[in-house]
Amino acid sequence: MHLTDMLRYRANPAAAVYLTITRRCPLSCAHCSTNSTMTSEEHSPEVFLNFARSFSSADHPHFILVTGGEPLLLPHLVQELTQIAHRVGTKVAVGSGMFFANMSSPPKNIMDAIDSADHFIVSLDTFHDREVPRARVVDTLKLLRDRGTSVSLQITKSSESDEYVNETIDVFRREFNDTIPMVVGNVTAVGRASQLTDLPQQDHPMAALEPCVLTNWPVVTFDGTIVACTNQLVVDGPAPTHLALGNAAEMTWPRLRDEVSQRYLLKALRVFGPRSIRKRLTPSACNHDYCSSCHSLAQVNSAAVEVLPGFQTGELDALLDLVQIQYENDSTRNVPHEYADLVLLGKIRHATSQTKEV
Ligand code: SF4
Ligand code: SF4
Repeated sequence: MHLTDMLRYRANPAAAVYLTITRRCPLSCAHCSTNSTMTSEEHSPEVFLNFARSFSSADHPHFILVTGGEPLLLPHLVQELTQIAHRVGTKVAVGSGMFFANMSSPPKNIMDAIDSADHFIVSLDTFHDREVPRARVVDTLKLLRDRGTSVSLQITKSSESDEYVNETIDVFRREFNDTIPMVVGNVTAVGRASQLTDLPQQDHPMAALEPCVLTNWPVVTFDGTIVACTNQLVVDGPAPTHLALGNAAEMTWPRLRDEVSQRYLLKALRVFGPRSIRKRLTPSACNHDYCSSCHSLAQVNSAAVEVLPGFQTGELDALLDLVQIQYENDSTRNVPHEYADLVLLGKIRHATSQTKEV
């Protein structure tokens, strides 16, 4: 599965769900948004397994994204989740900081867990490099390439003048002959990164467009709490009521899918974005930045956000359809234009190999 096979569904509500199966991680990256250590929280695997068991062939997400912390500390759980997902037709992507690339040879159970999934997302940047040198990542990814694994890179820029990003792009394009797609983003000042200085100046990735498509794929957080977006402050909780979706211990996929797809305010966030909603409801009071204005909606009278002035549910649905079509037709949408081509690397080769397999 190529990265763009997921990205094109970015605007589709409940097309995917994140499962953050552990906050633990053996690495100590200085920019870690989840503040992960080896003693961080880890809850019962049953929370995640039972939730996945509520998927059915008739009703399941297109994708689960298994993440952490470091999910490959639990390779057996990754494989079990993948088996459950595959039984009903859900594809699986696993994200990792690749701590195991430091070992003389990667453990078999980790390689098997990666093999079982449909896509492997590797985080790499100047902070990760201090924990796992890039050359070790390249060597281990070559082993995975030889096993037929579909891989993408998530590269994080630490400052405006971060040379590591361009070096990494060059190394991977050369070493893997342009077959590995890459997404380049910025470090955000959350978790350990809040202690860093010289971070790139940025607004929220959705701010330029205003609509927030990050409300589409819910996150089952470390303790099973389910929230509507990946904003780390929301994941760490407590989430504002309009972004709190329940707990995986009591939730089934059909109920979660309905919550994600039907809540009026989530639809409005996907069409207008939080600042625009806040302005419509309280025109004199919107000096917040993007996500703060979303948090502040929790203080607005809930009846007032059931129906925004002038917008009935049907009209929102029609606008949402348009947003979805834009994303489905352009999987690089919302990626900075200088890095957009990187997202498509390997796409043609991947499509060709799929055709041959058919
Ligand atoms: S690999 Fe990821 S989870 Fe682990 S310390 Fe680094 S940023 Fe945090
Ligand atoms: S605007 Fe709201 S829903 Fe969107 S990422 Fe920020 S906190 Fe989450």
